Amino acid sequence: MPTDDSVYSYSAVLMGSPILLKLFSHNEPLASRVFSLIKQYEDLLTVNRAQSQVMDINHAAGEHSVPVSRPVYQLIKCAKASSMLPGSAFNLAIGPLVKRWRIGFKGDSVPPADEIAALLEVTKAEDVLLDDTALSVFLTRKGMEIDLGAIAKGYIADRVRDLLQKEGVTEGLINLGGNVQTLGTPQGYWSIGLKKPFSDADALVGAMEVANKSVVTSGTYERYFEKNGQRYHHILDPKTGYPLDNELDSVTIISTDSLDGDIWTTLLYGAGVEHGCRMLKGRDDIEAIFVTKAREVVLSSRRQFRFTLLDDSYRLIDCTA
Ligand code: AMP
Ligand code: MG
Repeated sequence: MPTDDSVYSYSAVLMGSPILLKLFSHNEPLASRVFSLIKQYEDLLTVNRAQSQVMDINHAAGEHSVPVSRPVYQLIKCAKASSMLPGSAFNLAIGPLVKRWRIGFKGDSVPPADEIAALLEVTKAEDVLLDDTALSVFLTRKGMEIDLGAIAKGYIADRVRDLLQKEGVTEGLINLGGNVQTLGTPQGYWSIGLKKPFSDADALVGAMEVANKSVVTSGTYERYFEKNGQRYHHILDPKTGYPLDNELDSVTIISTDSLDGDIWTTLLYGAGVEHGCRMLKGRDDIEAIFVTKAREVVLSSRRQFRFTLLDDSYRLIDCTA
């Protein structure tokens, strides 16, 4: 990646995350348009405010269906399809549990088991009813809530890429709080760092070289709290209602669309290394990097990127599945 003066960086804080845009020509008006586009989608999709199109659906749970704009409908439809895959760890209706745990927000706490059991009853993806003609969404049970927190950034990163392409930008990068989408191949590739879990912000396990690809990471170290020596992180198991507990610290996906990356990080987080590697057989478009608690970096394949290990306390291995 070039380190010369021709890179122009623009930053903002949106969606509760630091946003970084890199361009190769100085273009303040374009950067402003990118940030307003992100804000526009945030306004439609957020569940961290009283009003948005997604919150309108949530407020009407158990009462009536709500028509939404086409992009919101399409994203919800895609999220429901991913949630309905057999054994899926992704669940767009996880909202009531996310709101109760409040992981990463003020007031986080471990809910009593009976509350979790009760909330599991209102987190069923099949109870999200879609109407393709009316572009409307109906949550059939009171208390249900859609939460697109796992995929909104990926979706928006792709829309930023589309805007930049439309504006004739051939080389650029958008980093939406860890969801990276890249355009072009400045000096051959982009180098994207893979964070070292539970370490200083700039500590890296390794680096990937990619071109025209998205790189998305979901990690337990991103948002969590500790109580009585136990760590509770923000990716919940839709079956138990508790944080997913397995051998993983993080999953990174390299793909063309950041939305795919965002969905697959959650799917593979739930699947674990072995099953995850098997799931990727025959998916030439999706590649994964698993970082385990046992300090292994497991690569599903290396078709679309090159990986360099930068921390020798980790062991680099390839999926054998
Ligand atoms: P990410 O950072 O992309 O891994 O997304 C994490 C966010 O997704 C959480 O903060 C929740 O808002 C939401 N979430 C948590 N668990 C799940 C799940 N099992 N399925 C879908 N979304 C989830
Ligand atoms: Mg995600």
